[in-house]
Amino acid sequence: MSTDLPRYEHHIGGEWTKPAEGRYFSSINPTTATPWYEAALGTEADVRRAVRAARRAFEAPSWRDLSQPARGKLLRRLGELIGEHAEKLARTESLDNGKLLREMRAQLAGIPEYFHYYAGYADKIHGEVIPANSTKLLNYTQREPLGVVGAITPWNSPLMLTTAKIAPALAAGNTVVIKPSEHTSASLLELVPLFEEAGFPPGVVNVVTGFGAEAGDALVRHPDVAKVSFTGSTATGSRIAATCGARFAPVTLELGGKSPNIVFDDADPDRAAMGIVSGIFAAAGQTCIAGSRVFLQRGVYDEVLEKVAARAATIKIGDPLAEDTELGPVAFADQRDKIEEYVRIGREEGGRVLHGGARPELDLDGYFFQPTVFVDTDNSMRICQEEIFGPVLTVMPFESEEQVVALANDSSYGLAAGVWTRDLSRAHRLASTLEAGTVWVNTYRSMSPMSPRSGFKASGVGIEHGTEVIREYTRLKSVWINTDESPARDPFVLGS
Ligand code: NAD
Repeated sequence: MSTDLPRYEHHIGGEWTKPAEGRYFSSINPTTATPWYEAALGTEADVRRAVRAARRAFEAPSWRDLSQPARGKLLRRLGELIGEHAEKLARTESLDNGKLLREMRAQLAGIPEYFHYYAGYADKIHGEVIPANSTKLLNYTQREPLGVVGAITPWNSPLMLTTAKIAPALAAGNTVVIKPSEHTSASLLELVPLFEEAGFPPGVVNVVTGFGAEAGDALVRHPDVAKVSFTGSTATGSRIAATCGARFAPVTLELGGKSPNIVFDDADPDRAAMGIVSGIFAAAGQTCIAGSRVFLQRGVYDEVLEKVAARAATIKIGDPLAEDTELGPVAFADQRDKIEEYVRIGREEGGRVLHGGARPELDLDGYFFQPTVFVDTDNSMRICQEEIFGPVLTVMPFESEEQVVALANDSSYGLAAGVWTRDLSRAHRLASTLEAGTVWVNTYRSMSPMSPRSGFKASGVGIEHGTEVIREYTRLKSVWINTDESPARDPFVLGS
């Protein structure tokens, strides 16, 4: 079908490349519910082509023989270029997923920092000399890139989540094929020419757009994809892990969450209430780290709940491009349907909607949903156990520290947790006992490229951000050199 909409092609081997089957799909602006561009519909043939280009680039001297400091310089230059294009990229993301322009601007301001951080790390990746158990043998290790990395990303923070994968992957000397979410292809396609402008050889970074079941699956199955780095839902992550497991390809999986946000009686009630609002209503709840389960100790239950409900009632809903909007639409129609279905389930389970629970009255046709606060909930209910990925909060009271730790950990997920208390000992105790890859005390949603991020339990496998992530994109080789000139040792005995 031909339309007047702008069109994006795949980006393979440094060139805009038409889809093998000549088909395109349209992306919907969630604020207006209208299509605003078309992207190439990727199939297995496109993925094969992109992986071939990435493999060739991996083996080419222009990349393989580039020194580590030189790789770092490319990453630094790329970060600078992204900074120069940040406003356009932020607007594109906001138009594509409906998140506030303010929020996407902040993310785009942070992305150069990620590239600069890993630019600084590129020349610090090295092995070590190991004493082994002989002075006649030199044993050393070297960290090698894996080859072609397949990166598959979701729609909620498209460039930020892609950056978390490709910045360390490139710093370590890999090449990449990226399959962005079918809901948000545009910002990556606008960014990708900047890699070549920064000096990366063609084919080091490739993008194939399309749907998960076809293009994503083909990337995961491809035998030349040495590693898959995935951010998305737990259900998809589980499928990818099984496929990669069968062919012994390592994976990094950053998956879903149902994070607890716990307020003790001694907490500052205003700060805690704002931390709760930020945890669940920022980005219309479409963050993996959403603090969707709030536990309030009895002594502050009424006060903090009243503050949260009062702020929820004044949240300004509207066009995410407007400076004063606080809550935009959710990213697509099915996502709103899913949220509505969970609100119905929550009511059926006995939960009471204290605020929200419906579509707002607006002049815009997009996929808006009110900030919603559920009370009279129980941690065993589906709305407290399953990830809704929308602006829906469940609030539960608790009596003791022991009780709330048990409730917080009673979840298949383990991505993040918030704790609000002035008691230092308790803060440290909870930081240890909560089963979550990130624990925030008296803050929520703090993030840095320097700080590792991982999901426990069904929230993921592996690490992103920080220095340890380099291990995820390298393999370790142990090399033995015999410096001994004396006669050969007994060939039938293991030893040094
Ligand atoms: P999703 O799993 O539906 O899709 C994610 C990506 O996987 C998309 O690019 C999609 O096309 C692709 N995909 C889908 N099926 C596939 C398959 N069979 N094989 C290969 N690729 C496939 O997730 P989503 O709805 O885009 O994103 C929301 C989810 O992401 C939420 O669960 C959220 O918690 C999670 N998330 C996690 C983090 C984190 O860091 N832990 C960050 C952001 C989002």
